[in-house]
Amino acid sequence: MSSIDLEGLLQAIRTVSGLEREWVGLHEPIFQGNEWEYVKECLDTRWVSSVGKFVDRFEIELAQYTGTQRAIAVVNGTAALHICLQLVGIQANDEVLIPTMTFIATANAVAYCNAIPHFVDSEEKTLGLDPKKLENYLDRICDLRPEGCFNRDTGRRIKAIIPVHTFGHPVDLDELVKVCDRFKLELIEDAAESLGSFYKGRHTGNWGRVSALSFNGNKIMTTGGGGAIVTNDKDLASLAKHITTTAKVSHPWAFNHDRIGYNYRLPNLNAALGCAQLEQMPEFLAKKRAISQKYHQVFNQVQGVSFFLEPEFSRSNYWLNTILIDRTEVEQRDKILERTNSQGVMTRPVWTLMHKLTMFENCPKMDLSVAEDLEKRAINIPSSVFLAEDDES
Ligand SMILES: *Cc1c(COP(=O)(O)O)cnc(C)c1O
Repeated sequence: MSSIDLEGLLQAIRTVSGLEREWVGLHEPIFQGNEWEYVKECLDTRWVSSVGKFVDRFEIELAQYTGTQRAIAVVNGTAALHICLQLVGIQANDEVLIPTMTFIATANAVAYCNAIPHFVDSEEKTLGLDPKKLENYLDRICDLRPEGCFNRDTGRRIKAIIPVHTFGHPVDLDELVKVCDRFKLELIEDAAESLGSFYKGRHTGNWGRVSALSFNGNKIMTTGGGGAIVTNDKDLASLAKHITTTAKVSHPWAFNHDRIGYNYRLPNLNAALGCAQLEQMPEFLAKKRAISQKYHQVFNQVQGVSFFLEPEFSRSNYWLNTILIDRTEVEQRDKILERTNSQGVMTRPVWTLMHKLTMFENCPKMDLSVAEDLEKRAINIPSSVFLAEDDES
């Protein structure tokens, strides 16, 4: 017999997400700052497109906020990842280590480079890559040569790794950096979900040679659609700007391009929204923390599930709050999803693991038992900033 009380669980979520709301989404945006003013300025001045003062300002303020040297604004997080892979020199047939438990963008970006995703397991403490398990695995399957790390099985070079800070929770970056150093792996952080998340006091995105951010509509802050590359390497930053703006050679009138480039730049309209949202990040973070603390409290009272807490070495943005179903109760997952969604409370399972998708089912992979376990147990619950509003007055 099940020990999860579905009504009690629904009630617990509602206690935090609003008892009177008829429908509550997983993560809805909120525009209560200078959004109207800045977007109006774009329309009034007619600077709506690929250049404009908000693009420059957004890039400067993003670098300041994340504590990185440079930020390059782009059309979305997937494009940011795609360019990050090119910047570290990923070539066709290289293998790139990524968690199997991630959003499709991470795997797609690798595929865009004609490189091969190589799937890695997660750990329950962070919901992200497990550096220790990875190291043991690489010890077994790799040939370390002066020119890099090679997969003995496939003969291909393993060139890079992309950790994902899942739902905003940082992976154990110090441990991961050690593994990267030992196996000569380029590190790219997929920080799409972790704007405002800090690892040992420093903002995520500072450990990778280049890192990717996303400002999609469901992220902690949004530009409508958008993303950014952040880096502490000034040369790579200049190259990133160049590649994402069609690789045009600067000149008053001539159109010359010195390599294949991309039209990946973020329009000024979107950057205007971004500037206004970034101003509100401290407030967003405080509210997200208040929401997660409330969830933590109410879920102490609910049998059969536990509320996921940030790893001890991090200060997380709690982008998407997560509950984990007890192992003995995993067959209750779909009932929980059905009951909550049918009652207007949006909940979601974690993504279908990448190695199970047809496009990636033949890619190399390690033992993925922890990710498989988490896939059965993790559920995201409503997490919008405005859920904290009711507490204010
Ligand atoms: C959102 C997200 C991205 C990028 O998504 P875009 O929608 O292209 O901005 C990449 N990786 C992860 C893990 C994400 O959650």
